[in-house]
Parts: sequence; C-alpha cells; structure tokens
Amino acid sequence: MELRLYDTLTREKRVFTPIDPANVRMYVCGPTVYDFAHIGNARPVIIFDVLFRLLRHIYGADHVTYVRNITDVEDKINARAAQEYPDLPLNEAIRKVTEKTERQYHEDVAALGCLPPTFEPRATENVGEMRTLIDRLVASGNAYVEQEHVLFSVASMPDYGKLSKRPLDEMIAGARVEVAPYKRDPMDFVLWKPSKPGEPAWPSPAGIKTPGRPGWHIECSAMAWRYLGEIFDIHGGGIDLLFPHHENEIAQSRCAFHTPVMANFWMHNGFLQVEGEKMSKSLGNFVTINELLSDWPGEVIRLNMLKTHYRQPIDWTVRGLEESANILEKFYHAVGDEVPSCAYPEVVRQLADDLNTPNALAILFVLEAQALRGGQTTVGGAEGYSSASVLKATANLLGLLVETASMRESSRLKARGIEASRINSLIDARNSARKAKNFAESDRIRDELAKMGVVLKDSKDGTTWEIAR
Ligand SMILES: [Zn+2]
Repeated sequence: MELRLYDTLTREKRVFTPIDPANVRMYVCGPTVYDFAHIGNARPVIIFDVLFRLLRHIYGADHVTYVRNITDVEDKINARAAQEYPDLPLNEAIRKVTEKTERQYHEDVAALGCLPPTFEPRATENVGEMRTLIDRLVASGNAYVEQEHVLFSVASMPDYGKLSKRPLDEMIAGARVEVAPYKRDPMDFVLWKPSKPGEPAWPSPAGIKTPGRPGWHIECSAMAWRYLGEIFDIHGGGIDLLFPHHENEIAQSRCAFHTPVMANFWMHNGFLQVEGEKMSKSLGNFVTINELLSDWPGEVIRLNMLKTHYRQPIDWTVRGLEESANILEKFYHAVGDEVPSCAYPEVVRQLADDLNTPNALAILFVLEAQALRGGQTTVGGAEGYSSASVLKATANLLGLLVETASMRESSRLKARGIEASRINSLIDARNSARKAKNFAESDRIRDELAKMGVVLKDSKDGTTWEIAR
C-alpha cells in the first residue's frame, strides 16, 4: 500500500516512507486548556485521528506512536484562572482551570470517536527538556539572554521562514509581532520569560537567577523531542498554527539538533467557517464541541467533518449536520446487526491518497446500496463477504458506525430518559388489558408509550417496539 501525503513544507504530495516502519511517529499540537474547545479545534483532532487509524492499518497498531500535547502553562490560562477564582492563590486556581478543561476535552474528543493518542504529555511535566533545548540554543548562538528573557534570534537562522514562505515584512505584519525592549529584532520570539510573584515558575535556564516559565513554541519542540526523537515522520496541526507556531518549532528544533528538518512531513488542515462566516466570539457564532454534542451524536459531527477534504476550507452548517445524520441513519440501517469483516481496499486506497475522505465516503454509498440488496463483495480476491459486514468494517476504519444496533437503541432510550424494562412492563400491562377486553386501558397505554416515542408493532408473534426517529 503506497501512502501519499501532502507536505506543506515542500508544497507537494509525496510518497510517505517512514524513518522506521516499526515505529511510525506523529506529533500533533494539542489544546491550551483554559476554555472549552471550539468546533474549529475539533477538525485537526478528527483528521489526525483518521490518519492515526490509517497508519495503524498500514503499519500495524503497535507500530505507530502518536503524540498530542496538552499546553497547561500559558498566559491565557493565568488570566482565566485569576478571573474565575479570584479568591484562590493563582497556582491553585490554575490547577482547577486546567484540570477541569482537560477533563472536558477528553470527554468531548472521545465522544467524537477519536482514539486516545499514544502519549499525551503536559507541558508542565516537560520543563526540564525545555531548559535543555534553550541552553543548547544559547550555546549555539541561536538564542540570547536579555532582561531575564531568553529570545530566539531569527537572524541566526539563514533559512527561517521556509514553511510559511512569506517574506519577513509580511510575517511581521501578519503576526502582529510584538516589539519589546528585550528584543534585538522584532521577529525574535520568546523561549523563556521571568515569572512575577505568584505566577507559575520553574528554575530558569541560561544562568538566569529569577525563576521563570517557558514560551509556547518551545513546549512543542521539547515534547516532540522527548517522545519522538530529533527527527520524526509527521507533524500536524491546523493551518492557523503554520505561522508563527510551526515556523518557530522548526527553528528551535533544527538549530538545537543541527538537523536539516524537524519532521519529514508537515500536514495542515484548512480553516473552518460557520454558516459562511468566520467563527468569532464577537459574531456570536462561536460553537464549542461540547454545545454541539448536546444537539448531535458525536458520529454525526465526525462524519460531517470528513465530508470535506481536510486541506479545503470547511463550511460548518446545520444543514450539513442534518444531512450527515441522515446518511448515518441509512448506513446503520444497511448494516443492521452485521459484525465487521474487513475494510474495502478501494476505500483504504482513497485514504492513502492524502486522506481523500470525500472519495472514501462515496464508496461507502456504493457498499450501502449493495448491502441493502443483501449483496456480497470480493475483498482482496476472496469472495463471499457480505457487503454489510464490509461496509461496517470500512466505516469503522474511519471511526464511524462503531455502535451496534442494540447500543444505538439504548442510546436513543437514554437520550429520552427511558428504561427498556419500563417499556416492557407497559407492553405486558397492555397485553393483559387487551386479553381482558379492556380496550380503553390498552389504548391509554399505547398512547402513553407513543408519548415516550415508542412505536409498537403488533403481529401474530407478539408485540415488538422501536424508538421513533
Ligand atoms: Zn505545537
């Protein structure tokens, strides 16, 4: 199976060859845990989960290492903690905010059908590695100390800016680069800064006496190094991280290790808009994953995300979600109670072509039509797989159709706060009433069940029920 991926650094789709096929290594920038993740944040989580699943499929589940970090030290976290818990000491308030947000994040991404990464390091647990990197950069002349800050010297790296390929003046304007008295050049970025009393603080690198804390970019370089080595296979994230974050990660790691690249492939998912507009708090169209999950099953959100190719911008609409919900219903109906057999090779080929999920989904529709006819499919030269079982296995590879028919029935019940035993005892009571020719009572029970959304089907073999959709 030839895997081809688009590399943002070289601007081309290339054949992916892992450095070590026994340990394929991928790093994806994770959340800064100070607030609910919004739906734009869900896109890379879902996209790189699909890639993680595909890599596991191709190289074996035990041969892929996926690292997604948690940024739990950042000025935004400090500000939120002080605002939310003004009466607590700052460190305690920060712990409350980060723990709560991290827990919520894990619940939300699990509901979106995402596998946990192999490692999920927290920045605060890797400060030692950050100090080591910073010391190296100072020693190699790529960083300098000024007013108890350590700054990366952009001028020290002749090919800085290769990833975003923007002229320096454009980068300065685009990123609203902060001019500060401790910077030799406005483009230079902070690797370490002093902490004020009460703020989170660690012993400083580069011989600085005052305790301090790391800048954001150095966190990812340090955690990628610790878990994946000096050079690894794939680095991913949203396109919004391309500059300055990823550009600066590359600068730090390459200069610290004197390597030609940090990762062999840089992958970025496109922007997400909501109903045709840029999502922003001021426009009032800011949607969190958590809010969406209260209205839609996680699988619907996931499928909706995969309908658009990951590099294209996506327009997130209620209409799209409704359509995705319908598609899933149809798929589930076609699959019935079948157990998964094996993934359809053409779908794997489409995914291996730079994660072409729209084409992969189009093939699922073909399998669905075959499954509805009770058809069989040939997979890898072997005949006799039921199309329904192949549809299920193939959708599973995408993290879809993971529920069995009975799981779905019970989640529908749960969504309505109904217990199956309650339905069965009402049906028994109705049958007794009918036997006693008390039709007023049996009709009353039928109506009561209808109000709960339970549809009865009487036949000569007895009464069955289902939950109305
Ligand atoms: Zn990062």
